[in-house]
Amino acid sequence: TMGIGQADPQIAALLEAELKRQRGGLEMIASENFVPKAVLQAQGSVLTNKYAEGYPGRRYYGGCEFLDQVEELARSRACELFGAEYANVQPHSGAQANAAVYQALAKPGDTVLGLALDHGGHLTHGTRMNFSGRFYKAETYTVNPDTYLIDPQIVLERALQTHPSVIIAGWSAYPRIEDFQALRQVADQVGAKLWVDMAHFAGLVAAGLHPSPVPWADVVSSTAHKTLGGPRSGFILARSAYGKVLDSAVFPGQQGGPLMHVIAAKAVAFKLAGTRAFRERMSRTLEGARIIADRLNGRDLAERGVSVLTGGTDVHLVMVDLRASELSGKEAEDLLARVGIAVNRNTVPFDPRPASVSSGLRIGTAALATRGFGPVQFERVAEIIAQALVAGRDADVEGLKAQVDALAQDFPLYEGLDQVG
Ligand code: PLP
Repeated sequence: TMGIGQADPQIAALLEAELKRQRGGLEMIASENFVPKAVLQAQGSVLTNKYAEGYPGRRYYGGCEFLDQVEELARSRACELFGAEYANVQPHSGAQANAAVYQALAKPGDTVLGLALDHGGHLTHGTRMNFSGRFYKAETYTVNPDTYLIDPQIVLERALQTHPSVIIAGWSAYPRIEDFQALRQVADQVGAKLWVDMAHFAGLVAAGLHPSPVPWADVVSSTAHKTLGGPRSGFILARSAYGKVLDSAVFPGQQGGPLMHVIAAKAVAFKLAGTRAFRERMSRTLEGARIIADRLNGRDLAERGVSVLTGGTDVHLVMVDLRASELSGKEAEDLLARVGIAVNRNTVPFDPRPASVSSGLRIGTAALATRGFGPVQFERVAEIIAQALVAGRDADVEGLKAQVDALAQDFPLYEGLDQVG
């Protein structure tokens, strides 16, 4: 019965401080979002008490009758939302979902082919320090050096050279739409399976504002917490033929007991992602990213060596290219942080600076769209970012910060919530 304020004042104070931080600044980290209160409630529920190893109807523990219904709802909502034949909603995270996909589609030592980390791929797509690069023979493809686009012809060339059993599509830092049908053809041509990791753009797919990889890929993995706006976690979609092998790859292959409170929260998020309100939010997300890309294409920025990778965006993020700028990615990230805007530095393809400093910024709009931002506010945010990047080390940090504070105040976050809700 003791609340957290009494039981653990130290942690309670930190939760409050974090809520205040989230309310006070502008969150533009492309992989982040704000979950609705309903998701917080499911995730903070008594379902955390329960072991439910196994799957609905086939548990290794008693007392799972309600949890079976929770997981069934999560699975069927995921299938309906994305038009998939099969869903596994148990992965604890995106990385765990991906570990299970490897286990289901490949044997240790097999060759896999994914987008290079420094060209926008994810750690789990075969980097050396990740399990994926240690247990598999990980080969990479790059973006096209002229267009900076993912180019099925380059993927094909690399696949013909390396003979992968799995081709990995999807990305963490890339501003355009991939051609899943063309990648399917590449996979078929070399006898590989096609796996798409849609973690970043899953919300756009759910809203019908981005092509779906589901009809083309053998397996699709995702996180629930980026554009999709659900709890921090993962899930997997596939053709039903892969269901059995994926189920056993997740449990007992990679995990023990599922996080049923998180699965309940995923079920809520899948339900909400099917609504018109969600689609409207995703379309504001896209509009915001286009507004920011347009502004950062301005001549005043070009004169300072700042440009937009690929000249624009089709998704929820903009990749800023600082290779010709005196500001590094690290300096630009720090500058915007001082202004109250959270973004992350990122390598850009063919980056001359070391990864720890890098020459790119990744700017996402999903969290601000969730907060209620529309075109008018995104224009103002774009202007603040543009002014900061043009002025660089001479930026009027206080003046810009005051504008950020005003925008944040106009769009209250988690009203009525204190601490954890
Ligand atoms: N896949 C992609 C494409 C991602 O961008 C991420 C997140 O950074 C992940 C997987 C990993 O997700 P998680 O952080 O939940 O392990």
